[in-house]
Amino acid sequence: MNNMYNTNKITEQLITWYGKHKRDLPWRHSKDPYKIWLSEIMLQQTQVDTVIPYYKKWLNKYPTLKDVAHASEGDLLKIWEGLGYYNRCRNFKKACDIVLSDYKGKVPTDFHAFIKMPGVGEYIAAAVLSIVHDKSYPALDGNIMRVLSRFMKKKTLSRYNKKVIYNHICKWMKFGSPGDINQALMDIGSQICKPNQAHCYKCPLENSCRATKTNLPESYPTPKQNKPIPNYDVVTGIIWDHDQFLILQRNEMNHLGGLWEFPGGKMKNGESQSEALIREIKEECGLEVNVKSKIGSIKHVYSHFSIHMTTFHCVSKNNTIIKTTQPYRWIKPVQIKDLPFPKANHKLFSILNKQGWHV
Ligand code: SF4
Repeated sequence: MNNMYNTNKITEQLITWYGKHKRDLPWRHSKDPYKIWLSEIMLQQTQVDTVIPYYKKWLNKYPTLKDVAHASEGDLLKIWEGLGYYNRCRNFKKACDIVLSDYKGKVPTDFHAFIKMPGVGEYIAAAVLSIVHDKSYPALDGNIMRVLSRFMKKKTLSRYNKKVIYNHICKWMKFGSPGDINQALMDIGSQICKPNQAHCYKCPLENSCRATKTNLPESYPTPKQNKPIPNYDVVTGIIWDHDQFLILQRNEMNHLGGLWEFPGGKMKNGESQSEALIREIKEECGLEVNVKSKIGSIKHVYSHFSIHMTTFHCVSKNNTIIKTTQPYRWIKPVQIKDLPFPKANHKLFSILNKQGWHV
């Protein structure tokens, strides 16, 4: 029989390898569905090393799902600040509220019930239910998909091939712990079968892997061409009223929703920075301002675009009556530590902490 289909043996190899080589990660010391769920949400689009301190800080403050349901969204976003993709945090809060109100605080064990929770897709549901309850759901993230596309020598990750991969892992799961199999494949993907370098000599799948026999396993699946991302020139203003300045809260439905920021926005063609800032502040909060000294410029790269943001001190020309539909606050610099701001703003805070905050 072709080794590739000797599923019983491969399951055994995977589980033995996982027992010896698994990464010691904080969430692997627990089978609490709330903690595993939190870890998987944080790990989406984010490196393990970045997640670990956030995970520990979060659990220190919110050790149970009930604590999250009882917390305010603003306090949760403050803990999440810097981790990015803030929808994950807001959806997790909404989902914890639902679990507490509709499921008596118990995370659903049924895949179809769980997947209805805000922010829970097929991957999260499969990862949590396999790790916590050993249910047979392959957790197909980018790492696992890459490992299997090489193992099965699939050039493309078409919908059909993903289904083939899914079914193949299901066969392995008939012979051993689905949670361990998913986690073994996650570790192989992140530690051994890397996008640009497959260390096949360390891999428990080497004997049965088809791509390793080609001597160019990294060519599976065919690498995607990275599209260039647009850059936007943005201007923002710190509008002072005595020792306080104005901040606005971003709309929940938008990128970085729920976080606080200074008024401002994108420059239009032909505008000077001052002209753009005066226009943006007038549109955003109804104030007419005088633009004062320049504080500095920062660059920040998001997943789909980058910004070059220049910030100025500003003062209102006549009054400080705000006309906006967004929540707003006048705060002192010392209050920044209590509210969540985007990473780009923290770069600006570093400049202000060095040069002094006032105009
Ligand atoms: S043998 Fe090599 S190519 Fe195949 S899964 Fe393992 S590391 Fe990846």
